[in-house]
Amino acid sequence: MTNGSGNGQRGIIRVPIGAVSAMNQRSTKSAPPPASPAPPTPPAPPELPLKPTEIEGGASTDQRAASTPPVGQPVAVGATPPAPVGYVESCLAQGLIPMTDPSIVSIDKAIETVFEQAGVPRLGGASGDLGWSSFSVYQRCPYLYYRTYINPFVPKDEQIKSPALEIGSLVHVLLAVRYEHMRDPTYPFTPEKIYNALLATRANAEVLMESWRLYQGYDIRWEADYLIPIVAEYHTVDPETRQSCRYDLIAKVTEAQPGIMPGTWCVEHKTLGRFDDTGLNGWRNDGEIIGQLMLWKRLKLDKKFGKLQGVLVNIIGKQKNQQFHRTPVPVELWKHKEHAKDLKVWRGLRLLCESMDTWPRARANCVGRYQCGLFEHCADRET
Ligand code: SF4
Repeated sequence: MTNGSGNGQRGIIRVPIGAVSAMNQRSTKSAPPPASPAPPTPPAPPELPLKPTEIEGGASTDQRAASTPPVGQPVAVGATPPAPVGYVESCLAQGLIPMTDPSIVSIDKAIETVFEQAGVPRLGGASGDLGWSSFSVYQRCPYLYYRTYINPFVPKDEQIKSPALEIGSLVHVLLAVRYEHMRDPTYPFTPEKIYNALLATRANAEVLMESWRLYQGYDIRWEADYLIPIVAEYHTVDPETRQSCRYDLIAKVTEAQPGIMPGTWCVEHKTLGRFDDTGLNGWRNDGEIIGQLMLWKRLKLDKKFGKLQGVLVNIIGKQKNQQFHRTPVPVELWKHKEHAKDLKVWRGLRLLCESMDTWPRARANCVGRYQCGLFEHCADRET
């Protein structure tokens, strides 16, 4: 199944940089026309100085490709040519606005504007502050939670997302639109239309280019997708706990895939820089994923969408030679019960901090795979 953009060629950029450069003229009146046809040898997008972000992934086989590797084995899609040195110079040479320009708008704002202008409800927004992310921040460090949710240094709507997070957000939107358009061909947007509309905004050029590269790789890899979308971006809130959750995609699988039974699956999109075992398979013990399964059961969503088989973590690799992986996480009721009990305790601890107005620093967690963003603050300043 295709969203209309798949042409079966690997590693090509279907919106040429020539079209991208129109973005740099930045007409806000209208989006440039969709680029077509793509040039045979497009220039490589500049390499981004991004840290690898934390994961998102999963595995299974493409039903039409008998030679597709089994679950757990990443699939290479095509090599990106060597990137030019210096992304700023590269952006400027192409007429793009580099991320160092203070006038650029956040990807979130740009996405919001594009949907607003079309009068279409936005896809790919945040799930709210009572989702798993707030628990995970608290579990990492109560002080970090305090500085993120209670008393942030910079008001939430003024915070600047890292390019890696912006890329993750935009890839989510492109995938949501892809599946929504598959589900309903009359849906007014396609990923190409969204991308072209974003080119006409003052959004971060390299975020746009990199997101589009990742999306195109995905579209080629899963051109014959076995996921049949039921609904893209299903947002729900537990009426008891007010805990929120946004399912990226709820989809049906009709033909069994290795490790993936036919039935209904929640699909969680993740972008990932490095495909190691932790990144690909750590999802089986991930609080967000377990929470999604719990909420589904609690809200009896089986009645609405069919019996849930589990969460399929759909990992989009950010490597130069892009890889993809889908990790199935099945429903396990014992795990849900344990997790529910654990969360009660974590909620109680959070209330304790609130009542004492004291948020202890968890200094064992300042430096890990990634250094905490508040490291300098906690290391050098008395509060
Ligand atoms: S630097 Fe360490 S103590 Fe400070 S907020 Fe981050 S994890 Fe907590």
